[in-house]
Amino acid sequence: MPEILKGTEVAKALRAELEVEAQTLKARGVQPCGCLIRVGERADDIQYENGAAATFEKLGIRVEKRSFASDVSQDELIFAIDKINADPLIHGVLIFQPLPNHLDARAIRNRLLPCKDVDGMTDLSTIGVYRNEPIGYAPCTAQACIELLDHYKIDVAGKNAVVIGRSNIVGKPLSLLLLHRNATVTLCHSKTRNLREVCKAADILFAAIGRARMIDSDYVSSGQTVIDVGINVLKDGTVCGDVNFDSVAPIVARLTPVPRGVGSITTTVLAKNILSAAGRTL
Ligand code: NAD
Repeated sequence: MPEILKGTEVAKALRAELEVEAQTLKARGVQPCGCLIRVGERADDIQYENGAAATFEKLGIRVEKRSFASDVSQDELIFAIDKINADPLIHGVLIFQPLPNHLDARAIRNRLLPCKDVDGMTDLSTIGVYRNEPIGYAPCTAQACIELLDHYKIDVAGKNAVVIGRSNIVGKPLSLLLLHRNATVTLCHSKTRNLREVCKAADILFAAIGRARMIDSDYVSSGQTVIDVGINVLKDGTVCGDVNFDSVAPIVARLTPVPRGVGSITTTVLAKNILSAAGRTL
C-alpha cells in the first residue's frame, strides 16, 4: 500500500502554526480580519461561508460577512468593495464566485486591492503568480497542493511534475508554482495526446480534471506520488476524486485520499493568506 498523504493532517499542522501567528500579530496591535462577500443565497456558498468563518474564528481571525441580494447592482457592489479596500481593519477578502450574469465579474474582482486578494482572483495576483512576485496571492487550491508537498517534505526540484487540467484556479497556477520550485512541468488537458504515457512518465502526478475516478492503473507507474485535487459528487451522494484510489493504490508510492485530501487544506490556506496580508500592514 502507498503512503497516504492526508490533507487533514496538513491542515491540522498548519492551523497550529497559524494560531501562534495570529497571537503574535495581536500582540503587535493587529487584529487579523477576513471579509467574506456573498451575492445571492446559494446553499454551497452559505455552507462554505459558515465553515470558513468557524475556522477563521478558531484561529483568532475576526470575520466580517457582507451579503447582497442576487439582483445587486454593479455600482452597489463596486461601492462596497471600495469601502472594504479603504478599511485598514480588513486584511483579506473572498468574493464568492460565480457572480450572477448581470454583473461584470472581471471588473468586480479586479476592483479588489491585490494586497487583500487572499483567494488569488485578481489579474494582479495572477501576474504575481506568473512572475513569482508577492503582489497578491495564488488561488488557494493550487497553494494547498504546495502546502501538502511541504508538509510531507516532497521536493519537486528537478522532478517531472505532470498536472492534468489547465483551469485558471487550479491547473495553470499550480503548474507555475511547481515551476518556481524547479520542477520540470508538463501541463495536460482535454486535447493532450497519449495522456496515459505522459502520466506514467511523471514523478509527481496532479489530477485536477473534474472527472470522477478517471485516473486508474493505466495512467500510473511504480514509485510515483499522486495528488488528487478532484472533488466529484456521484449520483448516490458519494464524494470521490479524479483518481481511482483502489485501482492505483497497489502501484504508486504516495497517494492523497478524497475526501480528506487537498480539499481539506484550502480554507486553512485562506486563513494563512489573511494572516500574511495582516502581517504586510505592519
Ligand atoms: P475545470 O472544469 O475548470 O477544468 C478541468 C480541466 O480538466 C480542463 O482544463 C480540461 O482541459 C481538463 N480535462 C477535462 N477532461 C479531460 C480529459 N478527459 N483528459 C485530460 N484533461 C481533461 O475544473 P477545475 O475548476 O480546475 O477543477 C478540477 C477539479 O478540481 C474538479 O474535480 C473540482 O471539483 C476540483 N476542485 C477542487 C478544489 C479543492 O479544494 N480540492 C477546488 C477547486 C476545484
